[in-house]
Amino acid sequence: MSTTTLERPASARKTASSFVPELVFFEPAALDYPKGKRIMEWVQQSGIPYRMTTSHNRITNLPGDSELEQYKIAKRTLVVGLRKTLKFDTSKPSAEYAIPIATGCMGHCHYCYLQTTLGAKPYIRVYVNTDDIIEAARGYIAEREPEITRFEAACTSDPVGLEPITGSLAELIEFMADQEHGRLRFVTKFHHVDSLLDLRHNGHTRIRFSVNDKYVIKHFEPSTSRFEDRIEAAAKVARAGYPLGFIVAPIIWHEGWEEGYAELFASLAEALPKDAHAGLTFELIQHRFTKTAKGVIEKRYPKTKLEMDIEKRKYKWGRWGQGKYVYPDEQADALRMFISERIFDHFPDATIDYFT
Ligand code: SF4
Repeated sequence: MSTTTLERPASARKTASSFVPELVFFEPAALDYPKGKRIMEWVQQSGIPYRMTTSHNRITNLPGDSELEQYKIAKRTLVVGLRKTLKFDTSKPSAEYAIPIATGCMGHCHYCYLQTTLGAKPYIRVYVNTDDIIEAARGYIAEREPEITRFEAACTSDPVGLEPITGSLAELIEFMADQEHGRLRFVTKFHHVDSLLDLRHNGHTRIRFSVNDKYVIKHFEPSTSRFEDRIEAAAKVARAGYPLGFIVAPIIWHEGWEEGYAELFASLAEALPKDAHAGLTFELIQHRFTKTAKGVIEKRYPKTKLEMDIEKRKYKWGRWGQGKYVYPDEQADALRMFISERIFDHFPDATIDYFT
């Protein structure tokens, strides 16, 4: 079947508390895999338009009259294919390797680094050959034994938002449960964790939620789960015995930031049940951007309030010659100190993994 209608079918609309794409592409080989077949059945039952494609890397005929319109449609387009490159990227400082189960995200966070890393391919790709990906991970773990090897599953996507469609995280979590020297971690701005709660995880998967103050969520994170829903999901995963953490990113200097971040940690402490406070980790990442990212963001979100004034920033040299603009030391230190103090006020036993 092939159709160009992008009106979401009524049957799909009803189930839309989790992500429902408006158009789906399949690589023919994906249908040889149980996961590919399952997704196809769901697409057909939901009445979502779909097309076949020769490669998940070459989706060229997206509808839309302007670049901006095509970008918005791409963010609601799912591509189901095979992961061919099984060489994992490194993922410092949070893990040794990025484990690739999906690429792209339906969120519209203005600051998201996928804006530039995915370039002209912002559509969402999910991979059905999870067994191949898991075998590759097994190889990476064996190479480093007896050291622990950590895999980050959210480097190129937000896999929790896609979990109701793919079930890939569940497979990784159960695989990692049996790995003495392997650990999984991922971060999310979505709350669709219910299917993960009863899994056998053996404490080998750390689930982190990305949180921010009200100003940042309101202005820069459209199409993600609400703060309250993220925290409710965090409490559920803590009760399910998963190691839990929070990433505060990007930390943004804006008018009223002290009140905003003070309120964030106070409401986090209040909303999170006391039994979820033990063993918490926090990762703190200040806002940064490259010159390329600034150009792309201003094109895609022309009314954004995101401050990207190069004159007000410090240039930090990066790998591959592409440096980043971060806050000057004085501002970065103020953010780091203020936020660290608030964290330890409310969560005295927490660990701050890093501020960068
Ligand atoms: S949820 Fe995460 S991956 Fe998705 S757009 Fe927002 S920052 Fe990017």
